[in-house]
Amino acid sequence: MIAARTALLPLAAAAALLAAPAARAEHTPGVPGWQQDVHYRFAVTYAPPHFEIAGRETLAYWNLSPDTLSELYFHLYLNAYRPGSHMARRDAAHENWRVQDLPRKRWGSERIEGARILGGDSLHVETDDTVARLGLHEALAPGESVIVCLNFRSVIPDVPDRMGRSGRGIFAAQWYPRVCLYDRFGWHTEQHLGSEFNGDFGAFDVRITVPGNFLVAHTGTLVNAAEVLPDSILARLRSSGDSAVTIWDRSRFTLPADSSARAAATMPRTWIIHADSVHDFAWACDERWIWRRARWNGIDIDTYHRAADDGHWRDMAAEGARMMEFLSRRFGPYPYPGFSFVEEPIGAGGVEFPNIVWITPRRGSSALITRRLEYLFAHELAHNWFYGMVGNNETAQAFLDEGLTSYAETATMEALYGRKGNLTKPMKPRWLHPSDDSRSSAWRNYLEFQGSGLEEPVVTHSDLFKNPAAYYPSVYHKTNVGLWTLRSIAGEERFDGAMREYFATWRFHHPYAEDFFASMNHALGASYDWFWRGWFLRTDAIDLKLRSMRITPDSGDVELRIRSRGGIDPPVPVLLRDGSGHRAMRVVPREAFLGAAGEGVYRTSVPFRPTYAELDPDFTLPDVDWSDNRTSRWPRFQWMVDSWRASPKPIGKTLGLWRPDLWYQARDGLQAGVAFDASTVRWEHALQGLVGVGAREPRPFGELEARMRSVAADPRRILRAQGYDLDGHRGYRLSLAQDLGSKIERGFRWSFGAAVDLDRLYQPDAPRRPLEWSRGGYSNLEASLTSTRKFHRVRWSGSLRLRTDLLADRDSYGSLYAVSTADVSVIPKLPLSLRAAAGRVRGDAIPPEERFYLAGAGPRGEWASRWFRSRGTLPTHWVAALGGDGDVRAFADTRPSGSTLVAFNAETRSSRLIPSWVPVLRRLRVPVLDPRASLFADAGQVSDGNPTLRGMAADFGVGIRTAPLFRNHLVLRTDFPLLRTPPLPGERRWKLRAVFSVGEAF
Ligand SMILES: [Zn+2]
Repeated sequence: MIAARTALLPLAAAAALLAAPAARAEHTPGVPGWQQDVHYRFAVTYAPPHFEIAGRETLAYWNLSPDTLSELYFHLYLNAYRPGSHMARRDAAHENWRVQDLPRKRWGSERIEGARILGGDSLHVETDDTVARLGLHEALAPGESVIVCLNFRSVIPDVPDRMGRSGRGIFAAQWYPRVCLYDRFGWHTEQHLGSEFNGDFGAFDVRITVPGNFLVAHTGTLVNAAEVLPDSILARLRSSGDSAVTIWDRSRFTLPADSSARAAATMPRTWIIHADSVHDFAWACDERWIWRRARWNGIDIDTYHRAADDGHWRDMAAEGARMMEFLSRRFGPYPYPGFSFVEEPIGAGGVEFPNIVWITPRRGSSALITRRLEYLFAHELAHNWFYGMVGNNETAQAFLDEGLTSYAETATMEALYGRKGNLTKPMKPRWLHPSDDSRSSAWRNYLEFQGSGLEEPVVTHSDLFKNPAAYYPSVYHKTNVGLWTLRSIAGEERFDGAMREYFATWRFHHPYAEDFFASMNHALGASYDWFWRGWFLRTDAIDLKLRSMRITPDSGDVELRIRSRGGIDPPVPVLLRDGSGHRAMRVVPREAFLGAAGEGVYRTSVPFRPTYAELDPDFTLPDVDWSDNRTSRWPRFQWMVDSWRASPKPIGKTLGLWRPDLWYQARDGLQAGVAFDASTVRWEHALQGLVGVGAREPRPFGELEARMRSVAADPRRILRAQGYDLDGHRGYRLSLAQDLGSKIERGFRWSFGAAVDLDRLYQPDAPRRPLEWSRGGYSNLEASLTSTRKFHRVRWSGSLRLRTDLLADRDSYGSLYAVSTADVSVIPKLPLSLRAAAGRVRGDAIPPEERFYLAGAGPRGEWASRWFRSRGTLPTHWVAALGGDGDVRAFADTRPSGSTLVAFNAETRSSRLIPSWVPVLRRLRVPVLDPRASLFADAGQVSDGNPTLRGMAADFGVGIRTAPLFRNHLVLRTDFPLLRTPPLPGERRWKLRAVFSVGEAF
């Protein structure tokens, strides 16, 4: 398929550039009759230390459209990477300042320095940021061609993105003026706003001149290997077979010290490369790669990596070859001679280009050994089918490349590493080691996102998602899940055949969503428009519920009532079973739902009397709630030991995490119990609790909390019910949290909460501070409003809380409390946190637990923390304060309280105390040995009258705290308020005092 252009070597004359367009532009049945054809020639130089590519571009452009063109448009993508660009300003509007704040020496740019028609007049270039327009003096009629010569200069930016700098080398992507796509919708001249790209299929002849000590990895085939590689390497290339070998280990390369040897080593060399039937060309160069190669079916699989990651990369050429084999068999042949995986330290995350991809390094070690590198390889390689060969418009409809690739990635992971557990390397015992797989992960991501209520249609233009955070889950996960769903509905073999037909039909062409749907309908032999429409064009879902099963008295038939209200009514597999082992499977046709809206009745007969029915028992349909799909509503559990690791929630089951719990407090002595936490994909912490007994008095204690979220009514509303009999308190709390609006990307949230609670202290000696509690207790009503926002370098949050006693059982009170915090990061590595708090409580007789405390949280706040709840957990003589209320921490020993509070706090928190040149302590991974320091100042006042300036108390000091311990849940902190004013009678202002705490001050 790619032979048509191989004769066009770079030295060919201009006339050769205009040889008849290749076979790829010819009419393929089912495909629109024309597409433009391009042939690029480049002669460019890259000379470090400047990250600049400069040279000449010659573009032969065939107008095979039925339209006359009077202009050509070019993308100058790199211009997006400088302050003031459309992309930089759009990012800034979303509080992302990575480009707007970029220092000048890290900018990218792309400039056309001259343009003319080959052998003709110069052309006027109008540049607007990332798009250039070249007006043609003579219009280009249908069937005509033109050769345009451009001189250009591109600077590769230094910002984590799809191109970048690495040492003295570069990763060159979107590095040349690239002619905009002209198709049946006209010119695609959108400004680059950070989404992906598009371009015409064609041929590339590229001459890249780099210093002789650089190795180049690239799209296409190297034409002059003998001129740029030493003989020993050429011999190794010739002798290498299918199994993986190291071609060249340059990891120890250093430039010779002697200046003439150095000049010889860095003498520029020109790499001559040819590529055909591709729509883009990318390359990277480096001095110290380890280059390995494996081969499958005559295709060279090259990997280029750094010595530091040799352990991870050593086997990857062979893995790449296995993936190449699978993808070729599953979707269609890979017709190019080679493919390269290049390790990128630029922070791209993994990026696809024709014949070459960047792969981000695997960082850190994880207790769970993940197959991160493998699935990144699978994803980026699969892109050469859906993006590379089937070249959809990635900017407009990213699901056709990213979504189909995610599906192909999942298929590859399952074929190579097994259907289950393919994202983690299997470890035993299973109750201790969570596992995950690509399909469940996509399914879970989709369901979680669907439940957030922030979904937007999959076909949305990449730049036009209202909430940019909706892009990824829609385009990647929802598409992936949808294709697996359709595969199970349509039949696996038939679906795989249809995907092959779509690939074969649209290979080297530019399909849109409707082309994909039409091609699949055609190949599947039926219309699945009901699915395409609901899943891709709208935000419909699958939501089934088994309402009832009945055996009709006369005929003995089984009658199932099934409700479907997600918007998509799929055919539904059903399992019927009786108590003595008889089973039968049926499929409820989608026509069953066409009658009464959303409610289907299905009748069938089976040769036994079923007592149990279950919809979709094998979980082939991404039902948003599978808990109501059976005649039994009792959840199925998968129990695991909570091992302080993330445990991915399984599909179709409730994940129950449990762990033994040991605690100490003075009244019960040692307490022993079990803590548990049950979650489903859509229902985080559905039920959690703790049960145990104390050693002194074998009376059980416990707490239980249930969280409910009605996905159907409003997924942003959460109901919570808690009950407890714990450490001398008995009570309950019912609360509602309602998200009033959020833009995740902008860090904007606005929420409302309401609660009723009742707390009765029945053991007055149980609390850590018994005198701060009233006997008995109150039932209260509470309402709160909370808002968080992210501004440039400032993260702000504020809340307002109203509390009052509910039934006025004894003393009646009402309180108002407002707090505002801002995290300011103006000085790098020294974030500053500012806080202001004010509160007032009024009433006949105010219970002490409702008063405001100057030094930190009041008794109710302390009760919420297990450390501060009871007498004896923290040694009683320790001066300790928990964050909250006034936070004027120097007064933790006397704990003044009042009915009015004002307070201001400031704290700087350095990230680390131990400098990076003492890595030994850090490597021990004991967080206590990785302490952080802080500097703080507090001022505030509590009183029973109006606050006065003279009554203000203040402190100033330094603090030290641990890195977060236990899955980042716990920080141990000691503050030293060296200054306290006013001091206690007879005490000096400046003195060494210490206040212990857990968690941050605020
Ligand atoms: Zn991708």
